[in-house]
Amino acid sequence: MTVFEALHRPGGVLVYGIPEFRLPKAIVDQEVAKLVELGVRVECNVVIGQTYTIGQLMADEGFDAVFIANGAGLPRFQGIPGEHLKGVYSANEYLTRVNLMGAYQGEDAATPVLRGRGVVVVGGGNTAMDAVRTGRRLGTDPSTLVYRRSEAEMPARVEEVHHAREEGIAFRMLTNPIEVLGDEKGWVRAVRCQLMALGEPDASGRRSPVPVPGSEFEIECQVFVEAVGTRANPLLTQSTPELALDRWGQIKADERGMTNLPVSSPAATSSAAAPRSSSPWVTASAPPPRSTSGSAAVAREEAGDRALTRAPIGTHRLR
Ligand SMILES: Cc1cc2nc3c(=O)[nH]c(=O)nc-3n(C[C@H](O)[C@H](O)[C@H](O)COP(=O)(O)OP(=O)(O)OC[C@H]3O[C@@H](n4cnc5c(N)ncnc54)[C@H](O)[C@@H]3O)c2cc1C
Repeated sequence: MTVFEALHRPGGVLVYGIPEFRLPKAIVDQEVAKLVELGVRVECNVVIGQTYTIGQLMADEGFDAVFIANGAGLPRFQGIPGEHLKGVYSANEYLTRVNLMGAYQGEDAATPVLRGRGVVVVGGGNTAMDAVRTGRRLGTDPSTLVYRRSEAEMPARVEEVHHAREEGIAFRMLTNPIEVLGDEKGWVRAVRCQLMALGEPDASGRRSPVPVPGSEFEIECQVFVEAVGTRANPLLTQSTPELALDRWGQIKADERGMTNLPVSSPAATSSAAAPRSSSPWVTASAPPPRSTSGSAAVAREEAGDRALTRAPIGTHRLR
């Protein structure tokens, strides 16, 4: 069993997204080390879809089955004017720079993050909480969270909201950014927002935010972080065009986690398929996701003895 990970460190969101103050990286490393002890190979810096296609893994590299668990790492943006300005980040980029690339160490870090005067984070989920609390810890003051609904509708865990308040985060509920404003050099100087009121419930059952006419105002800041959701990264699926996707670009899977490409068919040479084999070793790796997420995990079942003899390519050594 080999896990291929695109980044230089395994763990996914747990290492690149969730900050150290909420989940120490040592805990994630211990969990990965346990898998390595069990015989799982972890190969980092391997992008499935670029380094290898899924077809190559099965046709050329000797794997019998592939479990795709590549997460939903492509950030969404609001699509408002000014998002091109210097100082605008997706929460993914902001948190990755700080957590994984070491920007917490200071301006001299190889991949720094802008600190500046004031950070505004838009969103109401755990990612928004992590971003705004990270901004606060980096000394970007004031650190403000704007969310277009009320606190009752926020999807973040109540503990995160509670801790954010304790740490002095300014909450601006029923507020929606409508434009990022820049200075003459192209740096963020403020975010123009609009107040919202709650209207009728939408498809999610939550009351929809409705703009309040004439309520625009500005919040001064130098950093603007968007934490308004993510979607599936198309890198892997674009290199496997025969894989059935839904209208959001997510891999279609049945109740057993199977894609449309069975392992035993000739098409499996370029497929993203969980095994049809009855081997418990293989089937255990394929819980039934609606859409897949997690690192690209690849199972190779070798004639009867489950031997793992393939030379690792850049195997991440944890111990
Ligand atoms: C900042 C943040 C805070 C969160 N807080 C919480 C929380 O408090 N509680 C909660 O329940 N959930 C939380 N979540 C959500 C939770 O982290 C995710 O649901 C979970 O991490 C998903 O795990 P995953 O393994 O499916 O995907 P991920 O953790 O995204 O892992 C996917 C991995 O696949 C790799 N990958 C992608 N494409 C390729 C490719 N082509 N080739 C090789 N590797 C690839 C990625 O680099 C990544 O390492 C949070 C998410 C974020 C971003």
